[in-house]
Amino acid sequence: MNNHVTVLEIDAASLQHNLAYFKQKLSPTTKILAVVKAFGYGSESKEIAKLLEDKVDYFAVAYSNEGVILREAGIKTPILVLHPQIQNLKEIAKYRLEPNLYNFKILDAFLKLADEEPLMNYPVHIKFNTGLNRLGFWHTDVPTIITELKKSNNIKVESIFSHLAASDDVNEQNFTVEQINNFAYIVKQIYEHLGYEPMIHILNTSGVVNYPQAQFDMVRIGIGLYGFGNNEEETNQLRNTHTLKSIISQIHLIQPGETVGYNRAFVANQPTRSATIPIGHADGISRKLGNKEGFVFINNQPAPIIGNVCMDMIMVDVTKIECKEGDEVIIFNLQKHVEYIAHKCETIPYEILTAISQRVKRLVKN
Ligand SMILES: *Cc1c(COP(=O)(O)O)cnc(C)c1O
Repeated sequence: MNNHVTVLEIDAASLQHNLAYFKQKLSPTTKILAVVKAFGYGSESKEIAKLLEDKVDYFAVAYSNEGVILREAGIKTPILVLHPQIQNLKEIAKYRLEPNLYNFKILDAFLKLADEEPLMNYPVHIKFNTGLNRLGFWHTDVPTIITELKKSNNIKVESIFSHLAASDDVNEQNFTVEQINNFAYIVKQIYEHLGYEPMIHILNTSGVVNYPQAQFDMVRIGIGLYGFGNNEEETNQLRNTHTLKSIISQIHLIQPGETVGYNRAFVANQPTRSATIPIGHADGISRKLGNKEGFVFINNQPAPIIGNVCMDMIMVDVTKIECKEGDEVIIFNLQKHVEYIAHKCETIPYEILTAISQRVKRLVKN
């Protein structure tokens, strides 16, 4: 049992609101795949999956062990494993996870396993690279893929998909439309020759926002469920799901000339009250937030982080804030604050959320 006082609260009602927001944006027949990889974007994938299982058609995780965690928690919804490895295929079949087959090496390995087991009509997904150049077959592979698939009754292609490289960037609209068109062309060839028509999908959150015409049969929503629309207007429609909070462990009175923290990075030039909070870089608070770059909220007032961020602690300036040891500290509880932190850390909210380490206690608020 994790009894850490530093807690990441997950707001179930906000998560449901965000899902409903995307649902009303989409055609009623479009299926929804909820992306719960990386512990549900740093939250708690089991809890997220339990909250959403009746309302979505699919879940996706990156690696097979993330899918096993969901199955062991009793989740029965289909689970797409986005980045399986040959070493994990047996486990994938054992837990009825559905692999993304992205090259001939893994396609052949899964066909071999499916023949040996044997599996019958086992659901798999085929991914095409349309310009991200990360994972996926190339369009010229289509004839060979068809030939291989037609040889076997052991597997059944549940879906064909691709991933956009810059769905959030309006300057890359031409490139994105080309990706979508190339994908549609690949799908057309497969539909003509495979003998059945698997589902197709290409959109992530920003894709749903910017290219709704390409929603096809299903969309894959990750960051949007957790409150970020990758543009201000959309994010304003979404609710914050992740609240990171802690408490004040100790308050120090520091005299002018005294210093706070490692390397004496903060030097008091006036009598200063500092509060020590049990969260540090090992919990996901970047050292870039030290030296007054970042701040937390105590009794609704901003308290800048002073000195260097330690592994397990930060110190904040509370000279002007009425507070005492044991008081609550909000590290962040709004998307705007997460965006500010991301900006200061020269990154994106995705990284801030997923960086919250497993040491922090997770708590679902219903
Ligand atoms: C992570 C991921 C998503 C989700 O993207 P968001 O921008 O978080 O909505 C969708 N598809 C694939 C292939 C992914 O890897």
